[in-house]
Amino acid sequence: MSSFRKQNIVAIDGPAGAGKSTVARLVAKRLKYFYIDTGAMYRALTLKALQEGIDFKDEKALEKVSASTAIQLHKDRNGNLRVFLDGNDVTERIRDKDVNLHISLLSKVKAVRNNMVARQRNMGKKGRVVLEGRDIGTVVFPQARYKFYLDADFHERVKRRYREFILKGKRISLSAVKRDLLRRDRSDKLRKIAPLKKASDAVYIDTTNLGIEEVVEIILNYVKANTHQR
Ligand code: C5P
Repeated sequence: MSSFRKQNIVAIDGPAGAGKSTVARLVAKRLKYFYIDTGAMYRALTLKALQEGIDFKDEKALEKVSASTAIQLHKDRNGNLRVFLDGNDVTERIRDKDVNLHISLLSKVKAVRNNMVARQRNMGKKGRVVLEGRDIGTVVFPQARYKFYLDADFHERVKRRYREFILKGKRISLSAVKRDLLRRDRSDKLRKIAPLKKASDAVYIDTTNLGIEEVVEIILNYVKANTHQR
């Protein structure tokens, strides 16, 4: 594990709506690293379980799905990440309401997480990656050289998520977004396995009053300043 410290791994954790995805994508672009959206992997698995009509209380069945599903992340021509589930592009579909509603039931299952963590370690083992999620700095790559925890005021996070839905032309109420975030925050922070929390050595960034570019600059400056330290 300690060899990961020597590699260039940027770990970005935090709750939904803290700005992780956009920031992680831009940081990866600027550093010319590969961007790994681990939430998208849990989302793709959730979609597969929905398609197969699996009972989300059946942990054995969820484990089986995680062991037999191909998930790939590819960059498209514009540098945006596309998510493939068993060869099919599900990039937009995995953001739908049914996936949001069921994902916490899947992401709290130990065997599912073990499977995901092994894949993520494998994807990141050569370094030069930015991984974004809930447990990157604590579980997936605890020895990552650069670790950040992004957070923001709850109401600001709700507003951001709501805007994202509206911009994509999706119809949703502000109160539905609020309910979804509350439920996922609670479940992600309170689950027994790999709960969402700041790693003790992660840099905490409150993004409530910061623009995307400002957050990206804070991270890049930190990476630059610490690049030659051992
Ligand atoms: O990041 P995103 O909001 O897309 O993540 C969706 C869900 O996937 C989270 O609410 C969480 O339950 C789960 N997740 C996780 N561990 C990760 C990334 C996401 O449990 N590393």
